[in-house]
Amino acid sequence: MTATNSNPRQWKSLAAHAIDFDEPIHWGCSGRGWHCCTDKVIPVRPYEVIRLRHAMRQSGRDLLNSGLVTFVWDAAGTLVSYLRQVPYERTRKACVFYEEVTNIDARRIREEAPERFAGLPEQVQRAADSDARGEFRVAGLCNAHQHRPEACRGFPFQRDPARERNPEDASGLQVFRCGTCALSTPTTPRAVMLDNDLEEFWRADDAFLAVSRYLQSRGLARVVHADYRSLHLTDEQRTELWASMYVPEAVPEVIERFPEQWLAPMDLEGDREIYRLVLEALLDRVDALVAERGTGPADLGPRDRAPVSRPDLASMLDPARALLPVVRATEAA
Ligand code: SF4
Repeated sequence: MTATNSNPRQWKSLAAHAIDFDEPIHWGCSGRGWHCCTDKVIPVRPYEVIRLRHAMRQSGRDLLNSGLVTFVWDAAGTLVSYLRQVPYERTRKACVFYEEVTNIDARRIREEAPERFAGLPEQVQRAADSDARGEFRVAGLCNAHQHRPEACRGFPFQRDPARERNPEDASGLQVFRCGTCALSTPTTPRAVMLDNDLEEFWRADDAFLAVSRYLQSRGLARVVHADYRSLHLTDEQRTELWASMYVPEAVPEVIERFPEQWLAPMDLEGDREIYRLVLEALLDRVDALVAERGTGPADLGPRDRAPVSRPDLASMLDPARALLPVVRATEAA
């Protein structure tokens, strides 16, 4: 596995602006994917790889070996990853899971795969009957829909990435101006996000950030700076440690308790537990390495910050844990 230095972390959009999660809006998704699945960099964090295994019916290791994600060291020295993109139109790119369907495609699917056709969105089924001349685009399908990443679920809304520096920040962003089609209805950004089962992903994301901060604090970030005290490791060792979060099958307890669990179409509880085991295994390895080197946590990581405590992953991943506290306080009032 290789990783490069870059930081395409957020979608680029001149339209990005702050939003209140309870702001009344008119919004609807056309289901075409022409904005959200093309020319966007889709972040994939370890929990999302665990989910994508079910969509692809492959282990995390096989997904990584197939090149499904690209690894990158970000500016904070954290290893992050992005979904592979493929050429689209002449000069553009689309997500590897994106499948654009035309009226001609719809007819072909109806003939060749009637079962699949029966499960396609209504507008695709109608297009198969269209007697319009020529070929026209009808919809954009996601071939990983049930397990698509967090960034796709909330689009065009997302939690403000500023919360990565300040976890108390519960504000949101709208990153693209879409949703003004004929399907738009009165709603709120929060309703749109919650309709897409985002809370499980948010808890997982919070746990990933907490583990990342712990690794940074123990000298494991890939930072070369006089104010950062690294744990002495080779580049390969450092990369392998971070990347282990994306390979659940590398943890013996996961193999023992959840053999070939990725073959199940959906297993939210199993995925949550696998994720916890993977992160705990990494934290155990980090603690053992620090102890082995004989360097105390106070002598590692950023010089100007106190060492952070080991995160309580079971609490962070608890499905009952409240999210978006500012919104909930508003509700309670
Ligand atoms: S994973 Fe699915 S929803 Fe997300 S960008 Fe790719 S095709 Fe679109």
